[in-house]
Formats: sequence, structure tokens, C-alpha cells
Amino acid sequence: LEHDVQNPRLVIVDAAAEDALFKAAEIANDASANGNNNLDPSKFNSGNGDAAAAVGGAHINTESIAEPTLEYEFTRRRIQSNIAEIWNYFSSELGKIRKIVSNDANSDLAETISQVLLQGAEHKRSLLSDMERLRTVDGYEAWRQKESKDLSDLVQRRLHHLQHPSDCQNARKLVCKLNKGCGYGCQLHHVVYCFIVAYATERTLILKSRGWRYHKGGWEEVFLPVSSTCNDAGNGAANNWPGKPNTQVLVLPIIDSLMPRPPYLPLAVPEDLAPRLKRLHGDPIVWWVGQFLKYLLRPQAPTRDFLVSGMRNLGWERPIVGVHVRRTDKVGTEAAFHSIEEYMTHVEDYYRTLEVNGTTVVRRIFLASDDARVIDEARKKYPQYHIVGDPEVARMAAVSTRYTDTALNGIILDIHLLSLSDHLVCTFSSQVCRVAYEIMQTMYPDASHRFKSLDDIYYYGGQNPHNRRAVIAHKPRSHEDLQLKVGDLVSVAGNHWDGNSKGKNTRTNQGGLFPSFKVEDKLDTAKLPLYAGV
Ligand code: GDP
Repeated sequence: LEHDVQNPRLVIVDAAAEDALFKAAEIANDASANGNNNLDPSKFNSGNGDAAAAVGGAHINTESIAEPTLEYEFTRRRIQSNIAEIWNYFSSELGKIRKIVSNDANSDLAETISQVLLQGAEHKRSLLSDMERLRTVDGYEAWRQKESKDLSDLVQRRLHHLQHPSDCQNARKLVCKLNKGCGYGCQLHHVVYCFIVAYATERTLILKSRGWRYHKGGWEEVFLPVSSTCNDAGNGAANNWPGKPNTQVLVLPIIDSLMPRPPYLPLAVPEDLAPRLKRLHGDPIVWWVGQFLKYLLRPQAPTRDFLVSGMRNLGWERPIVGVHVRRTDKVGTEAAFHSIEEYMTHVEDYYRTLEVNGTTVVRRIFLASDDARVIDEARKKYPQYHIVGDPEVARMAAVSTRYTDTALNGIILDIHLLSLSDHLVCTFSSQVCRVAYEIMQTMYPDASHRFKSLDDIYYYGGQNPHNRRAVIAHKPRSHEDLQLKVGDLVSVAGNHWDGNSKGKNTRTNQGGLFPSFKVEDKLDTAKLPLYAGV
């Protein structure tokens, strides 16, 4: 709840070991071991062999890699998301009309509309499948893989450098206390926020975690320490944020009480990386947050062993859709109830898209919840699905037992497996699913489209306004609508998933609805240290 070098080669060794862990499922299940795109819909089609071979080949001749333009990548992703938007619009409108005509006992017309909806859904799935195929055959996939690795390696090296100052005693430090009074996902976001401030102010992050509500022994018994050489704030005086330029040790409050607020908080990404991120990724801030999680969540050996055995015991196989159903204390306070049927409609749609060209796959979901009844219910209602999940883990996630070592193991495993899934179906109002989605970005060059949220769009608790720019003018259809001129900035509140989004036009200060396809994200950037020489 609640809305967190010394030896550069070390990083690479760690990253390689970590990759091996994270890719375990992939390797086990994919004899062709074709990089990260082994489970894309196109794999089940014929005719993608050449592109796949180019990506999966062990030695890529980097000089001959073809690079897409920013405009090409941008347009490709825009078409992909607008296929979903146009379908959201027509299916929602036709659904409403069907309801009206069925009430009139006009059953023939209602039946015709149902047929149109079925045909339309198939057409949409075919288009989405073609977009996935386009990505694998357009000749740029090798570049995407390489660019993604290069960017990630660069950020990981910078973080390692930041965390290993040559003179720890005199180094500038930022103290972050893990014990924010909230759940694991929220606490991870708290640490990521601290780490972003540390990166931006070139201060070594000191994580204070003794007495952690999830594990009294502290963070370092579960994950690798954030530094292997510099974990002590020292005995000198520490100042609270914002301190002075010469303050050596600065203590950071939680994001909700941060004053003044610096410009580099989410959703901003570093200006020096922005041009590369814009081209590579559909939602750069999620990628950026994912990089901090990648560094933070390097497991200690027992955690690693537990994750590997957990996957083995559950019989982890792909393709698999990760489903997170957040219930207990969240429902009715911060989020609405969603039935298992709602989640499964989107799972079904995902598999039908995979199978659109006539292939069949085993239908698997990984189901995580804080309510064990959900897993039993899903098993009863969906016998045609192979449902991976552990009701015991869900039982321990109940509010009364949540802050225990056993429950911590459970949530670490659940988030890990959600992030390893091919697609996520969940509520983004939950930080559990948002963290999984952020980590998922470290597994693919761009996994920004691999989700379906039943409620919120992606956000980072405590973020600065989320702005989108109007690229098509909009004349209000009713008093509920916003007027948009091309170039207007809209501060977005959410997507109604019916073709419309809600927001406020920052030019007119007017709030209301507008068609989602008429805007595009405006990437927020901040001037941050360049870490030259790293
Ligand atoms: P939020 O409240 O859903 O935004 O997420 P938080 O992570 O901040 O707090 C919810 C906490 O409930 C988690 O950290 C877990 O302790 C527990 N929890 C919620 N969903 C799950 C789940 O699917 N699996 C497990 N193991 N625990 C969960």
C-alpha cells in the first residue's frame, strides 16, 4: 500500500551471472535459444527465420548492423499502440449500442453487432501479430538488442562507479532509510527514488535497512549490498534535504515530503541518454527505473538459490502470461475489485493473438495474488489453462502475515516470475505489478507494450506531471471533452481504455476527455551528471 569502480569488470561478471539466472527459464524452454524474442508471436509464424538468426547469432558483426531512424521506431510503436486504441474505441462503442438494442428486444441487430465484434477482434489480433512480425523482419532487431545492452551496461557501470568512491570516508553521501511504512513494492520504489537522487547529485547511496519490516537482518542479507566498499555514513554530522552544496552527508525524506522538489524526479530521464532512449524504448522512464532495480536486486546466493528452486518446483515454462490479482487491503481503499474473468479475457486475447495464424500453444498463466482463493477459483473456472502459482505464497501475503521472512520470499519470487512472463495482465494501481513491469524492461530491448492494466496507466508514486502533446487537434464532442490544438500539452490523469483518455489541457486549464490517439508522450528530461570516463 501507499503511493519507492572500483573494478568495472566486477559489474560485468555480476551482470552475466544475473542474466543467467533471469534467462534460466528461457534457455530451458527454448532449444533454439534465440535471444529475447524467442516467444514473440512471429516465432509461431513461418518466414521470420533470417531476422531471428541475425539476432540470435553469437557473433554479430557490429559494423554491418542497420539502424532504424527515430521517426521509424516512433511511428512503428505509435501504430502498434493505436491498433489497441482503435479497437478499445470500437469495441466499447459497439458494446454500448448492443446493450441498447438488446433492451429493445431487437435480437437480430444485437446478434449482428456481436458478429462484427468477433470479426473486429480477430482483425485487431492479426494487425498486432503483423506489427510483431514487422519488428522481427525489418532488419533492425540486431541493432535493438545491441543498443539495449550497450545502454544498460553504461548505466550499470555508472551506478557501480557511484557506489564505489575511491575515498569512502570523505565521499559525498546520500542516506536513505528503507523503512518507509508501506509494502515491498512501495519500498522498492522508495529506494529507487533515493538512488535516482544519489545519481543526480553524485552522492554514494547509503541504504539503512537494519530492522526492515520484511527482514529484520536488513537488505544485505537478501540482496547484495548497494556497495561492496562504502556502506557507512560515517560519524560526522548529517544534514536533512536539501542541505548545502558542501554538505557531506545528506539525509533524504520520503518523496511525498520532499521540498524543494528537484527536476530530475520521475518521469524525467537523463538528458544525455534521452536521444538514445527515445529511439530504443516506448516508455523511457520505465526503462530508467528498471535499470536501478537491476542494480539493486542482485540476489545474495541463498536468494538466488531460492528463486531457481522456486521456478523448478512450480514447473516454470514459457510462453506464459503473468497475472497479478491484488485484493485484500487494496480493494475499496486504493483500487476497485476486478473479477478473475476480467483478467482472463485479456489473457485469452493474448493467446489468440499468438495463435492467429493457426498455430497452437499450451495456455499457461503465472498467477500471483495476496488472496489464495483467487488461485483456487481460477483453477476451477479455467481447466483449459495450465495455472502456475502457489496458494501458500498467496496465503502468506495476507495483511496479518505479510511482513515475515516467508512472505518476503514469496513476494520476491512472485515479482521475479511476473517480470519473466511474456506479457502482464494486472492493475497498475498496484506497485507489485509496476515493479514487475519495470524489471521486465531489463529482459527485452523494449517491453513497454507487454502489459494490460485493468485500471491505471503506468505512473511512479510522487512523480512530476505526466504530459502528452497533442499531435491532432480535437473539437469537443460533448461538454465532457477537452479542446485540443496541435502542440497543446495535456497533463494526463488516466486512460479509460475505451479509446479516450482523461487529462487537463495546460494551455486552457480545462479538464476532460480526449481521444487517446490524438496525443503522444512528451519525454521529460533533466540535465544530470555525465559520468565522463565511466
Ligand atoms: P500495492 O499496495 O499493491 O501498491 O503494493 P505494495 O508492494 O506496496 O504492498 C503490497 C504488499 O502486499 C506486497 O509488498 C506484498 O507484501 C503483498 N502482496 C500483494 N500482492 C502480492 C502477490 O501477488 N504475491 C505476494 N507474495 N505478495 C503480495
